[in-house]
Amino acid sequence: MSEEPRSLNFIEQIIEEDNRSGKHGGRVATRFPPEPNGYLHIGHAKSICLNAGLAQKYGGTFNLRFDDTNPSKEETEYVESIIGDVRWLGADFEDRLFFASSYFRQMYDWAEELVRKGKAYVCDLDAEHIRQTRGTPTVPGKESPGRNRSPEENLDLLRRMKAGEFPEGSKTLRAKIDMGSPNFNMRDPVMYRIVKAPHHRTGNEWCIYPMYDWAHGLEDSIEQITHSVCTLEFEDHRPLYDWFLRQLDGVFLPRQIEFARLNLTYTVMSKRKLLELVKGEYVENWDDPRMPTLCGLRRRGYTPESIRLFCRRIGVAKFNSTIDVVQLENAVRDDLNKRALRRMGVLRPLKVTIENYPEGRTEMLEAINNPENEADGVRNVPFGKTLYIERDDFMLDPPKKFFRLAPGREVRLRYAYYITCKDVVNDENGDIVELICTYDPATRGGSSPDGRKVQGTIHWVAAAEAVEAEIRLYDRLFTRETPDDPQDTTDYKEYLNPNSLEKLTGCRLEPALGGAKPGESYQFERIGYFCVDSVDSKPGQLVFNRTASLKDSWAAGRK
Ligand code: ATP
Ligand code: MG
Repeated sequence: MSEEPRSLNFIEQIIEEDNRSGKHGGRVATRFPPEPNGYLHIGHAKSICLNAGLAQKYGGTFNLRFDDTNPSKEETEYVESIIGDVRWLGADFEDRLFFASSYFRQMYDWAEELVRKGKAYVCDLDAEHIRQTRGTPTVPGKESPGRNRSPEENLDLLRRMKAGEFPEGSKTLRAKIDMGSPNFNMRDPVMYRIVKAPHHRTGNEWCIYPMYDWAHGLEDSIEQITHSVCTLEFEDHRPLYDWFLRQLDGVFLPRQIEFARLNLTYTVMSKRKLLELVKGEYVENWDDPRMPTLCGLRRRGYTPESIRLFCRRIGVAKFNSTIDVVQLENAVRDDLNKRALRRMGVLRPLKVTIENYPEGRTEMLEAINNPENEADGVRNVPFGKTLYIERDDFMLDPPKKFFRLAPGREVRLRYAYYITCKDVVNDENGDIVELICTYDPATRGGSSPDGRKVQGTIHWVAAAEAVEAEIRLYDRLFTRETPDDPQDTTDYKEYLNPNSLEKLTGCRLEPALGGAKPGESYQFERIGYFCVDSVDSKPGQLVFNRTASLKDSWAAGRK
């Protein structure tokens, strides 16, 4: 997609300044550091595209590093899905897959170094007491009774903590910084806590685990990350990030840079809430096509290219904002418009009999596969006496602006003939079940030799050759633009859209779709982009997911 050239974003400016001053000898190293406690979502994609994109642009390296410092919430299932999602997005970490847990030994040795330097101490307060003695923005915190112990005593206690002598929650290791600091993060933050739980990679080797603030900078330093990009909420943690690294001898000093996280309208992005939607069965699973997870978007039919395009278009900034979800939908439309093969499919079929068409005859008509790409060529579509058209394309008593089929009206069947509606067949309830039409054999291919014009062109499928499919139409998961607005006390689940999924069965598709493979995307002419479902679709039992309608139907005032 050729996008407008853009000016450098603020992170690129920093990198180019560093490169000019020779700060890291022109080297650029970035990383994406997920905690393996959930599935990746579109917000993570912004961070991945940003970090991998910077490495690519400046000829640097990009690491995938699991920040697996909390044994109780982390699972191997998440590790595997995250690796798969990062690869799928096209972010190339080559062989640089790392785990923070591999650095536990080094981190611990550095903790001992801080203790020996009198910069860290063992504290006997439990979490509740630590909170109580933190003070307020105007009142300094109270010093812990352990704060003035000697380094020797602290070293002994730390070693015994590590050896498992103390119960969970009874002691912590804290940095000795400043209980009066206006920045709460600097009021003797906890570095290690006792957690007697097995870790997904280190098993029972450790019973003390490092806190994020202590661990994160060390991980970056070990990997010699030059620019450690994180979201804005870590801005107040930067002084601590720097403080820890400056206390240690001879370590590499990365620079933390914060950017605004992605928020999207009609979407919740918090892992806790996404987990709740799955556990509470509000959605089918993590990969439910309504979820903002990467596996959900993939199953919905989003391509990696469309997500990268979206991330490029939204850019990076230093202030928080909410992006209209239409931008995400437009990105997938723009990408698929260029690539998806065109097919005809009827979602809600209405039978049409062509009265004057010979019984038992089938002819093949040529149709263009993709007007955006000539190389995709043409295909033959069968035409016969019995067809299906879209129920919506017929009206008994049409209003002025309705240009499609109606009694006595002539329309063009795409790639086929002009037909005229002669009669309507009703069932015993008075519902329309069939249209009786005639065709004009002289209009083969869709134009009339006498120059006669028709106002409408509709799609259709020949009944005899059609393949049947189930089609799932998705709408936004929430009815409210900001479902989890912090100002709003209503639970976000109250805003779930009861009509976010509509399953249509008995849809009729042209036979070229009979062999469609899971994950493949097509444009159904006049309707939208559809992708073969990768979970439920089987040969002979096709299931398609609607990725997006052709246009933003919300803006057009219909759904
Ligand atoms: P939590 O830490 O609350 O479990 P998280 O979404 O921050 O949730 P992480 O696994 O820590 O999860 O995230 C990995 C990286 O993705 C972090 O560097 C984080 O800054 C980034 N990230 C997370 N959410 C977003 C978002 N909405 N927009 C941009 N980047 C994000
Ligand atoms: Mg996080």
